[in-house]
This record gives sequence, C-alpha cells and structure tokens, in this order.
Amino acid sequence: MGYPQYMRDSIAKVEATRPRRLQETFPMLTAQEKQALLEKFHPDYIREAMRELRVGPNKGTRTPHELADLLEARPLLDPAAVNLDNVDYETDVLIIGGGGAGSAAAIKAREAGAKVIMATKLRHGDANTMMAQGGIQAADKENDSPAIHYLDVMGGGGFTNDPDLVEALVRDAPLVIQWLESLGCMFDKHPDGTLITIHGGGTSRKRMHSARDYSGAEIMRTLRDEVRSWPEDIQVIEFAPAVELLMDENGRVAGAVLMNLETNEYLVVKAKCTIIATGGSGRLHYQNYPTTNHYGATGDGLVMAYRVGARLAFIDTMQYHPTGAAFPEQIVGLLVTEKVRGLGAQVVNIDGEQFVFPRETRDAESAAIIRECVERGKGVSTPSGIQGVWLDSPMIEIIHGPGTVQRELPAMVRQFGRFGVDIVKEPMLVYPTLHYQNGGIAIKPDCTTDIPGLYVAGEASGGVHGRNRLMGNSLLDVTVFGRRAGITVGQHFRDVKLGKLTLSHLERWEKELKDAGLDPKVSAPILLPDYTRKKGV
Ligand SMILES: Cc1cc2nc3c(=O)[nH]c(=O)nc-3n(C[C@H](O)[C@H](O)[C@H](O)COP(=O)(O)OP(=O)(O)OC[C@H]3O[C@@H](n4cnc5c(N)ncnc54)[C@H](O)[C@@H]3O)c2cc1C
Repeated sequence: MGYPQYMRDSIAKVEATRPRRLQETFPMLTAQEKQALLEKFHPDYIREAMRELRVGPNKGTRTPHELADLLEARPLLDPAAVNLDNVDYETDVLIIGGGGAGSAAAIKAREAGAKVIMATKLRHGDANTMMAQGGIQAADKENDSPAIHYLDVMGGGGFTNDPDLVEALVRDAPLVIQWLESLGCMFDKHPDGTLITIHGGGTSRKRMHSARDYSGAEIMRTLRDEVRSWPEDIQVIEFAPAVELLMDENGRVAGAVLMNLETNEYLVVKAKCTIIATGGSGRLHYQNYPTTNHYGATGDGLVMAYRVGARLAFIDTMQYHPTGAAFPEQIVGLLVTEKVRGLGAQVVNIDGEQFVFPRETRDAESAAIIRECVERGKGVSTPSGIQGVWLDSPMIEIIHGPGTVQRELPAMVRQFGRFGVDIVKEPMLVYPTLHYQNGGIAIKPDCTTDIPGLYVAGEASGGVHGRNRLMGNSLLDVTVFGRRAGITVGQHFRDVKLGKLTLSHLERWEKELKDAGLDPKVSAPILLPDYTRKKGV
C-alpha cells in the first residue's frame, strides 16, 4: 500500500521545491481573474449540467438535472395507503432531521415549553454535522467583529447572499460559541484558557474555532446529549424518515407522514409547527462527482417542501470542496479538511509548483485545481485514472513544529495512515469533491417560509451563503438557525389551531405534472441512494 513508485517520483519534485516554496506566497486572484476562472472551470457553469424546472414555484429556474428530476418526481407515498383519521403521534413541534440544525431547534423549542418529536432517517446524529472536521466561525476576538465577519460572508458568496440572513448569522455567532461551551462542547484552547482560532479560505481574520479535526462530532455530541437529557419533552424517532408533509384544510403544514424503515409502515404525525432540518443532497452525486456527504443526504426536505409550494433559492449552485481525497482509491471523495491549508500546506502540481493561493474561496480553489488537471495537464494520475494535485501536508510541521499534524489533524492521520500514507511526511493527493448544497428552501431570519406552519433550518435552507459558503459558516448556520427555528416555533405553537388533515396537495401536484405534459417515472423523496439497496428492493 501507499504511493506507487511513479507517484513517488512526483513527490520527490514536491520535496525539492519545498524549501523555496516555504518563502513564497502565491498571489491571490483579482475579482476579474476569479470570475473568468469560475466561468470556465467551475462545475456550476457547465450549461448542459442544468435545465429549467417545468413545474412548481420555481418553474423556469436553472437546476441541476439530478435535483430537477426529484423536484418534478411523483410522490413516493400513495395517499390511499394512509388513513389520516388514524393519527399515530400528536405534538406541538415536529422536527424532521436529527443533525445539528434539528437538534439545536429541539433544544430551544423545548425550552419554550413545546412538546417535540424529532423524526430522523437513520440514527440521531447520522448526519453531515457529525462528519464536519475543520471548525465553526465566530468573530469573538479583539481584532474582529460581526461587521468584518459579515463582509467576509458576503464576499465569499459573491455578494449574492440574503443580507438579513447574513446579519443574523454573524450577530448570533459569538453567542452560539458561548452556548455550545455552556452545554459542554470542548473547543481547542490555549493553555491560558482562551479559545484558539485559525484562518479558513476567504476569511480576513482568524475566527475558526475547532475541536481538533472532529469539530462536527464534538458539536453533534454536545447537542445530542442535551436533546437526550429531556426524554419527557423531546421524543426521538429513529429510522423513520418523513416521506411527505401533511397539510390541514386551511393550507397550513400540519406534520408529516413518516415511514418506518424496518417495516415500511407509515406513521402519521400531526404537529402545530413543522421544522425541516434534513440537510443537503451530496448523495445525488451531481455531475458524477464523489461526495463527502453521509448516505442520508438525498435532498428529501427540498422535495417535500417544494410540493407544498415552498420557494427554493440558489439551487443552481453546489459547493465542490477543493480537497477531496483522490488517492487511495478506498477513500476517494472523502474530505481533507481546509484546516490543512489553514495550517500552511500549499497546493502544488505534478512538478511541485504552486498554481493557486492556498486559501482562495472554495469555488475558485476548486476551479483552479480542475484547470490545472484538465486544461494544463499538470495533475497526477492515480493507477485507476483519477486526477489529482498535491496538498503538501509535510509543510505543516516545518512551519509549526513536530507533533502538530498528529495534534491538530488526528482524524486525517488515521484516514490516510490506514492505507499506508503518512501525511506527516508525504503529501496528500486531492481533487474537488461534492460537498455542500449552497442553496435550499428560502427562509427569513426567523426561519419561517412562504408556507404557514413550515420552518426550515440548516443546510436544507437557502440564501445565507449566496453562491458560495465559506468554511466554518455551516456549523455556524445550523446552530444559529437551528436555535432560531426552535425559538420561533416556541413563540408560535400555542396560537395554532389545526383543521382537518389532508394530503390533497398531492392531487394538485399530479394535476400540475399532467398539465405540464410530464409523466415522471421517478418517485421521491428517494431516502437513500440507489447503490445502498439491492436491485428491486
Ligand atoms: C465531511 C464534511 C465536513 C464538513 N466540515 C465542515 C466544517 O468544518 N465546518 C462547517 O461549518 N461545515 C462543515 N461541513 C458542512 C456542515 O457539516 C453541514 O452543512 C451541516 O452540518 C449540516 O447540518 P444540518 O443539520 O443542516 O444537516 P445534517 O447534519 O446533515 O442533518 C440532517 C439530518 O436529516 C436527516 N434526514 C434527511 N432526510 C430526512 C427525512 N426524509 N426524514 C427524516 N430525516 C431526514 C439526516 O439523516 C440527518 O440526520 C462539513 C460537511 C461534511 C459532509
């Protein structure tokens, strides 16, 4: 195992240029250079990869084929198979999704006196939140402020972001770090007890808070423990994905139909307020990219919300993380955290030369890597023909001293070490990987949507990051807006009187499909990618 000899020959060039590169700063792209690079090489700009939606509130919106097929699909649920008079669970608040956003929402809704049901597809915490590595942003140092953080977020998103959502994000950020700490989250600290913060791509200040390179697992552990401390008030139903939202006769979202994944039985949950916190859609493998996402990231929340008339925002833009593993084969697509570049590792080509500033925003960094491999032919081919460039991790200990890599990146050391690559001494081969859904269901800063009774938080929402999210702003997003969703429903639920439950929106949907001349063969939500199931099941 480890690198074959021909790859080692390229590594020798990386080692030879390293002393010179340690003194070099590759220039950042100008705004014009960046735009030209994106338009030519970023996957979002490939025309054939998208088409216009033909039905629903976003009719006419450019959308990746993979997502468009699901948004225009037939319902998975046959309404005749469910008796809505037979309600299995009744609650104040239903939260769909047991990741970071859903858990934060549950905690705040309970604090406001609501009875909560959290229904989740797999186990509580089987989620992208659990997998996050690098950290969470918050402007809580003297040389920083929410206003500077605001400018970075807007700049990162190409000034397309919803300014009100960004304001909410950056204003709540310092509070959120304190809140997580108060719940027991163990962020990295200096010996004097102050929080350690480092740079991320596109950030003008060091404001990334981390827990080694398992920041998401630490945050998820903290939130899950807190949720599980209140079993009388928060009921967690695992292996029970929502397959359709319920409405009442007055047009309010009134809960959901769940499917028991073991028995395939349907469960009717009636709820005064429903929060979608189903996360992203990396497992749709847009444009055949590998992904960093967990298996449940199949865009279900978007599909269900779209069918009840919720508007989507920025769904034509996905985040391709610049540094997915390209070798060894067993881990292709898995994330190599941006923290590696934050600690000083440069990105270099087959000759050991830099070709991009290592901390450009992710969209530009990815586009530069694609250009280097596809146009300039300066990538390294793996034995199975995958292209990649080197991420020169041995620089880290030259800059910060022996032991840094093991201390700061223990998960990365294990991930590569298992296959014979020692990242302390050898660089990692990387290529962009599908990482994050920049857009989602349109929300307001209090997490309300266009549809009464429907609230959204986390990666399932769209608008806060515009066309490109900066590192560390998603763990922040899920915590800020998860809390806000919980607080908002806590203010609303007592005033809600639900009418008779109905699934009549599915009949309207079928009619809309027919009127548009569509006869889709796909049913959605898909719940899990095809390759996780045996054919025909
Ligand atoms: C490998 C990796 C590393 C990352 N690193 C960072 C980082 O360092 N910093 C950062 O800010 N961001 C990072 N991110 C992004 C960030 O982790 C996620 O965007 C964020 O955690 C999403 O949180 P969420 O609660 O919205 O969704 P998730 O945490 O994915 O939770 C969604 C939940 O909904 C469930 N679900 C889905 N469909 C249904 C359904 N139909 N019914 C019921 N439940 C359903 C899922 O099973 C899951 O439990 C990373 C992401 C990945 C994948």
